[in-house]
Amino acid sequence: MKFSSLQDKENPCSINSIALKNLSERDKKHIWHPLTQHQTAASPVGIVRAKGALLWDEGGNEYIDGIASWYTCMYGHSNDTITAAITNQMQQLDFVMFSGFTHEPAVQLSESLMQILPQNQAKIFFNDNGSTAIEAAIKMALQYHHNKGRKKATLIAFEDGFHGDTFGAMSASGLSSYNGPFEDFLLKVERIPTPQEDTIEQVLAQLDSIIANNDCAAFVFEPLAQGAAGMKFHSAKGLDMLIEKCQNAGIICIADEIMTGFGKTGKNFASDYLDNNPDIICLSKALTAGMFPLSITSCSQAIFDGFLSEEVHKGFFHAHTYSAHPLGCAAALASIHLLSSPEIIERRAYIEEAHKSFANTITEHPKVKEVRCLGVIIAIDLNIEMERYGNLRDQLYRFFMDRGVLLRPLGNTVYVLPPYVITNEQLEKVYHSIQEVLETF
Ligand SMILES: *Cc1c(COP(=O)(O)O)cnc(C)c1O
Repeated sequence: MKFSSLQDKENPCSINSIALKNLSERDKKHIWHPLTQHQTAASPVGIVRAKGALLWDEGGNEYIDGIASWYTCMYGHSNDTITAAITNQMQQLDFVMFSGFTHEPAVQLSESLMQILPQNQAKIFFNDNGSTAIEAAIKMALQYHHNKGRKKATLIAFEDGFHGDTFGAMSASGLSSYNGPFEDFLLKVERIPTPQEDTIEQVLAQLDSIIANNDCAAFVFEPLAQGAAGMKFHSAKGLDMLIEKCQNAGIICIADEIMTGFGKTGKNFASDYLDNNPDIICLSKALTAGMFPLSITSCSQAIFDGFLSEEVHKGFFHAHTYSAHPLGCAAALASIHLLSSPEIIERRAYIEEAHKSFANTITEHPKVKEVRCLGVIIAIDLNIEMERYGNLRDQLYRFFMDRGVLLRPLGNTVYVLPPYVITNEQLEKVYHSIQEVLETF
């Protein structure tokens, strides 16, 4: 199926010189892209339409979105249910500031989240993106101790975690390409490796020594699966033991479920695999299914209570203008409704099984170093050396795009995290393109 970009010709803004150039050329004049070295980067692809698991570019080419546009649009692009929910909401109430005011979509969303979040979660704080959800979580933890008259300044985090691009989030992140230039300006962090089945005791011992020698305020982690690190998984049992140790030492545990949340690991949240509930949970990305930037930082009653006082300044004085945007809340409500619909549950189970059988067919291939599956995530480490932002990695990316498949390899790790609504045929095509890589590279 091809889609021609008729809209461009009808667009009244497309006059004279502008009309002669395509999107990716016009883009170059004024736009500065994220995660991009503009001196050497290829032109961005102009996308004109998206529906279900498919994207169409301005040249009429079609791509299967194999990573749900950074783990967001799990119910498919331009989902009719979510679109309708936002449309209704914008005709009723577009926006009102959230300090001193409240509204139905936010209240309803808080009620709806409480039905599915781990049972110790009690309060919802709203932000507008993943990084600021983490930033709020870290500030909550630091101020919680401050309010109690304790000076605690050290964060504990996993070695190659990723938590976002604001300063607190960068501090907790362990990937140097993102935060290297800012190292001198970051919060104090002690790092531990992720616990694997055979290293749990070692990591626990490391944590003991960090707790004994530092004034630890919080432990920030991506539970079970680290996205940006290359879809690396770790032991739920090990993480559970780390959380228990931290909580016994009065250290606040912050689960970054921005990538893992809303069904991707097989359960609603990765935290559902744990016995010890995190004190704070951060959600974004699939929260609004790609329709609107919104995030939440939820917390236990104990954390919230740490801010109650007759003294005004003990409250949490953190706000973003677009906190709890009604349109984002409406999108989130519709998304959560879809998450537990029979159709989506069926698709999630299908993708899990399909990933497992695909993993079996390629696991012995000489170009495959390791295959991992968790929920709707499959990650394949290729037996090919590749730099994270190197030439070979870029060739791999283009190889997939040339075959109409959008995958974004992280170095030599190819992962698929498709929208739940991907069709069986589309998923087969994604697998086939990976098989072609194994025969070609
Ligand atoms: C994407 C992501 C973030 C940052 O969210 P933004 O909305 O991009 O700021 C933080 N943590 C994890 C695990 C993520 O995947």
